[in-house]
Amino acid sequence: MCYRCFWPQPLCWCGSITPMPTRTKFVFLMHPNEFKRVKAGTGRLTHLCLADSELHMGVGFDEHEAVQALIRDPQNFPVLLYPTRDARDLSKGELQAADFEGKRLVVFLLDATWRLARNMWRASPGLQRLPRIMFSNAAPSRFVIKRQPEPGCLSTLEATHELLLALERSGLDRYAQPEQLLGLFQRMQDFQLRCAAEAARLGVRRHARRPAAERPARRPADGARRRRIFPVVTPAAG
Ligand SMILES: [Zn+2]
Repeated sequence: MCYRCFWPQPLCWCGSITPMPTRTKFVFLMHPNEFKRVKAGTGRLTHLCLADSELHMGVGFDEHEAVQALIRDPQNFPVLLYPTRDARDLSKGELQAADFEGKRLVVFLLDATWRLARNMWRASPGLQRLPRIMFSNAAPSRFVIKRQPEPGCLSTLEATHELLLALERSGLDRYAQPEQLLGLFQRMQDFQLRCAAEAARLGVRRHARRPAAERPARRPADGARRRRIFPVVTPAAG
């Protein structure tokens, strides 16, 4: 295991990632489930792609020292990427440099499924008080493996990519390496598709050798089944 990207050493992404400098600081707040269950979550890789970014794990962040220090810092203009009705839409120019004269824009992003992101939101009144930003007219999700619950839902990597595009269009940042994030995303998906194809191939062979009655009846809960990205291939008994 590589303890930087949290992928197995032979698949470590670190060598192909060049951290990109930005004017904006990005803070990824990762729900513990995203770390434990979704090994191929995109939040950590996105964090590694951005030189000025941090990643913190938790559900509520009002007591989180590093997060609170960033919010308190008078040099910072902290905002939360969270698409509510009153969020400022960057794509419509609703956030301008004049809004945070001289301060550093610090964007907090919730790295979780929508359901868990809502839990994090409820558990963090301090985050609720931050100005909210969003973008519109984003490209539809490119995710083919982990199906998004609604057409408007993007992975953390895609959301960061769209946010950077919107920040650049608003003149608030410069997005120097869009191909890095998207290339990484594509390669991650190609790898997952190969894993799924290989698992299906092994699964067919295994089932061919074993009558259905001998196969274990135990199945993970529905949610776990849906969210599993790497099918677990257990060797046939005997
Ligand atoms: Zn690595």
